[in-house]
Amino acid sequence: MRISRTAHTTIPQRTTLKPVSGNNGNNSTNNKKTVIRNARLVDGSGAPESLNDVTFQDGIITAIDPAAKAPTAHAHRVIDADGLLLTPGWVDIHTHYDAQATWDPWLTPSSWHGVTTAVMGNCGVGFAPAQEDRHEWLIELMEGVEDIPGSAMTEGLTWGWRSFPEYIDTLAAQKRVIDIGSQIAHGPLRAYVMGDRGAANETATAEDIALMAKYVDEAMAHGALGFSTSRTPIHRSKSGELVPGTNAETNEIFAIAEAMNKHGRGVFQFAPEHKILPTDEWPWMREMAARNKNVTVSVNLNQDDAAPDVWRTVLNELTRAQNDDLNIIAQVAGRSIGVLMCLEGSFHPLAFHPAWQQIAHLPLNEKVKAMRDPVLRNAFVNEIPRDNGFFEGIVLSRLWKMFPVTDANINYEPDPTKDSVDAIGKATRVNPMDLVYDQLLSNNGRGMLYMPFFNYSYGDLSMTHELLQHEHTRNGLSDAGAHCGAICDGGMPTFLLTHWVRDRQRGPRLNLEKMVQRQTRKTAEVYGLLDRGLIAPGLRADLNLIDFEALSFGMPQMVYDFPANGRRLVQHAKGYVGTWVNGTQIVASDEFTGELPGQLLKG
Ligand SMILES: [Zn+2]
Repeated sequence: MRISRTAHTTIPQRTTLKPVSGNNGNNSTNNKKTVIRNARLVDGSGAPESLNDVTFQDGIITAIDPAAKAPTAHAHRVIDADGLLLTPGWVDIHTHYDAQATWDPWLTPSSWHGVTTAVMGNCGVGFAPAQEDRHEWLIELMEGVEDIPGSAMTEGLTWGWRSFPEYIDTLAAQKRVIDIGSQIAHGPLRAYVMGDRGAANETATAEDIALMAKYVDEAMAHGALGFSTSRTPIHRSKSGELVPGTNAETNEIFAIAEAMNKHGRGVFQFAPEHKILPTDEWPWMREMAARNKNVTVSVNLNQDDAAPDVWRTVLNELTRAQNDDLNIIAQVAGRSIGVLMCLEGSFHPLAFHPAWQQIAHLPLNEKVKAMRDPVLRNAFVNEIPRDNGFFEGIVLSRLWKMFPVTDANINYEPDPTKDSVDAIGKATRVNPMDLVYDQLLSNNGRGMLYMPFFNYSYGDLSMTHELLQHEHTRNGLSDAGAHCGAICDGGMPTFLLTHWVRDRQRGPRLNLEKMVQRQTRKTAEVYGLLDRGLIAPGLRADLNLIDFEALSFGMPQMVYDFPANGRRLVQHAKGYVGTWVNGTQIVASDEFTGELPGQLLKG
């Protein structure tokens, strides 16, 4: 069968594998030879796709042959891919599984979406190092910054460590489905070294700094992939405190970067305040990169409505820095960072209305019952609160970017002039707040509205389109495992293929090979994980076999499967015919095989 690059519509839709020989699709043995034949190979290098056979054994890719030409006589298992897409496993460098990884071997949603390697310890929050009396405080910090339910972490976190190396050892001793690696985070480090002074963001003394550098050095020696910090006032603990390190002076962060540099590697990752990124942060970033040639300075880059064009300046600065041989990259999202608003979630329009106080304490079914009362409805829909413009600012002025979620494949690039509650209201002569109300009440109170938060100032994804093509940006910011009550972007790698390569309507699409490269080899390289992200002999057999035509998202839903019945928004994927980690199949036809081959990565 001949597969042309553009004619993906000719590929038959299939969701199950046909084993040609050997045992059934749940084979887990990774030390025996497996051949995947007739795959539409996109190898992660950016090279044009080709039809090939891929052979692997002992977790390592051993051969790539022309289609139907690989020797199969001694293969334990032969899979006829019949033109399904074969890519390296996704490498997601921006997750927040720091707590979840200690109790949950499955690391969903990432593992549903073809991610085979996840990097955590981002944005300055994490759980090591930690004195025993800091546990509760660290949980509150994580709950505030990343919206992970505190009670779930209190019940679920296994603890049993103080130092970062002990944390790494704890993780390394546990089984899990995919590979993870961690960075040491500034928040816990500063509190560990400086106690309450560190937590309160007081200036670090020379001794404090020396001690922080020492612990970073120790963490790197024990396999930390880097260091992370937060410099944005958005990130606050549950009680409103800034993440420790937010206001850290340059002598402190330079000493930390220097400690990493000695190890010949390491990423300095941080979340900035976007408005002031080019002016206030860029000078020290350049200096840090100039002094520490082995360190990669990685900054989150999003578009903030308050400063919608700053990203252009940042891209120019990025190119200038790289031209000056400074190792600075910007981490970008594959789409808008959007909030899924629902009655069970952390954030929805009605919660900002005073009438919410009447029902906030009720369980969902009683909320729904109460909301069917016309008097209450009238209050929510027609009474504008007298709160000095707060409700107006946070809800009414944003109706143009609130979009009803009506099917599983949410439109992540909706048109505000047609698809928003504001636009629908105008077109149908219905008060948009009535639409908001009915949408949240639909599906027995489980209805959702999507509201892009970052990266949608222009009302489309044209900015993201440009970011995804820039040479010095890297894909990240899925925040998988975090923002459980409002955001579910762990599926961003899937979205790269569904939206950017296949489905986009509101502008040009992007190249399949480039998008695969960006989510595999390019992200692996940021952390020096050179044994993966590419399908080539000698590299790890981390693979995704994808039904590209059928690849899609499930309906986002709130589930209560965290410890202490903690809630989280999840969204499944459909179309991952097979996912292999280190040669072992972990997913077959979108279901786990039960295998847990994941390892703790050490830098
Ligand atoms: Zn983050």
